[in-house]
Amino acid sequence: MYPHALWRVDTKEKFIHLTFDDGPIPGLTEWVLDELKRNNAKATFFCVGDNILKHPDIFERIKKEGHTVANHTMHHIKGFKNNVKDYMAETEKCRDLVQTHLFRPPYGQLKRSQYKALKLKGYKIVFWDVISYDYETIGEATCLKNSIARTREGSIVVFHDNVKAEKNLRYTLPLFLKHFANLQFQFKALET
Ligand SMILES: [Zn+2]
Repeated sequence: MYPHALWRVDTKEKFIHLTFDDGPIPGLTEWVLDELKRNNAKATFFCVGDNILKHPDIFERIKKEGHTVANHTMHHIKGFKNNVKDYMAETEKCRDLVQTHLFRPPYGQLKRSQYKALKLKGYKIVFWDVISYDYETIGEATCLKNSIARTREGSIVVFHDNVKAEKNLRYTLPLFLKHFANLQFQFKALET
């Protein structure tokens, strides 16, 4: 459906691409950064523009610590509920803040027309091959188990630094990092 979107990096090398959507959120995003630093891991943060404006200090810290920042629209809007013009306006405003072409549509929603408009403007659209479902009430142990089971070389894994996912994320992330570090994997930010 989206032929040029990225779902996974095609590699046999032991790299994992962690991604965190919806921040920056005080407390939680900083905790994620601490965990990443402790494990010498780099990641990609798909930020909501409005949250960047509210928490510029955290946004600066993400960049300073060598992670990639990317676009998740200004207000986390739904593709299916917006026309192309409004959708692009939301996205362009956020690009001005993050200054990369990496884009992930909130809720994974993208109309064909929006996809085409994004491609014309040079965006790199990033989905995922592993979704942790950290925002669902599945329980921490299930969240960890699902995330580990589906991850392989080149995987793009979605976590959320948002309040809804906090409980599952705080349990899953440290154990996920440890599990794959023990297997000699490295955690890399996506290239912009
Ligand atoms: Zn999101």
